[in-house]
Amino acid sequence: MPGYEWIGEEESEQVASIFANGGVLFRHGFDSLRKGSYKVLEFEKKFSKHVGVSEALAVTSGTSALKIALKALGVGPGDEVITQSFTFVATVEAIVEVGATPVIAEVDLSLNMNPQDLKKKITSATKAVIPVHMLGTPARMREILSICKEADILVLEDSAWGCGGKLGADFLGTMGDAGAYSFDYAKTITTGEGGMVVTKMKKILDFAKAYHDHGHENNPNLPRWEDSRSNSGFNYRMSEMQGAVGLAQLTKLDQIVSAQRKVHDLFSQELSFPGISFREEPPQSHGTADAFTFFVASKELALVIRADLVKAGLGTKILPEAISWHFAGSWSHISQLKDQYPNLESSFPESRAILEKAVCIPISLRMDNALVEKYCRVIRNSLEAV
Ligand SMILES: *Cc1c(COP(=O)(O)O)cnc(C)c1O
Repeated sequence: MPGYEWIGEEESEQVASIFANGGVLFRHGFDSLRKGSYKVLEFEKKFSKHVGVSEALAVTSGTSALKIALKALGVGPGDEVITQSFTFVATVEAIVEVGATPVIAEVDLSLNMNPQDLKKKITSATKAVIPVHMLGTPARMREILSICKEADILVLEDSAWGCGGKLGADFLGTMGDAGAYSFDYAKTITTGEGGMVVTKMKKILDFAKAYHDHGHENNPNLPRWEDSRSNSGFNYRMSEMQGAVGLAQLTKLDQIVSAQRKVHDLFSQELSFPGISFREEPPQSHGTADAFTFFVASKELALVIRADLVKAGLGTKILPEAISWHFAGSWSHISQLKDQYPNLESSFPESRAILEKAVCIPISLRMDNALVEKYCRVIRNSLEAV
């Protein structure tokens, strides 16, 4: 969550350097004006190096990154794409935007995709799977990748919340055929609005690059107005100002993640008492610790804890109060989902039962020990009162 908490001087200097070098705000061309300043290009190069992939494309948002990646993977009408019930609505929007059919798998106690349920939802029409590293906790990628490999299905990681997190030696977002990150204002690092597509396959990135730029192939032998093209595209280009902010934020990513993880560890210590169980993580997880999530015995108790925290001037994040924007069972406004699941509200019972018993605390870089202890005191009191 804290990209916006560590923002200021470095970002300001990066943006100022655009104006000190000709003020070109467009990622392409104007070479004689810009004195070698290519912020978006530099952001892509540094980001791909940071996460260890060969190819990265900066775009306008995490949602457009997901859509562009699906397009580049060749997903379209007639294809089914499986994602998980607990995610932000954007994941399903991207599937619907490319004309594919959204299919929803249940989550397990990791609050990410349940690999056993994924297996059950695969059909001959399944073209891709989008596991989500919800709130920065790694999905069960080893199981998911092996299931998808066996069934010859593509994997796109929704790593909107996973930027800077790892599973074993691999950065989240880099294990599948493609990955998508978000730099919106509430994510680990931010460019205001923005996103990134990564892949290890040049062919996929080449398609994505052209698609996000009206089909422009940026042929080095042709001027832009005579540029070659093979497919229709759209405009999802990142601007130089966003690229500049991204460059400054990227230098802070490791520090942000380790600061969040410290707060997360403190919550695990302080909340280790009967009546509370923690969200599960796959072995060798090194999440971004965007939030601290735990389970209690009942939905009613989760709501009591939420109410007690609010009364004490503290907050929760998404769970248990706001599963609406983050739970597929609530998205009757998406007709393509409603077509698939006429009884949408009751369609993902395992997920609902798990989510309703969960409490999620937002982690902030401004959280000191005293604040963590205040949270834990309120929670302990709520549990003791029942
Ligand atoms: C934030 C988010 C997105 C969308 O990113 P934007 O940059 O806000 O468009 C997609 N998926 C998940 C899981 C998210 O949390």
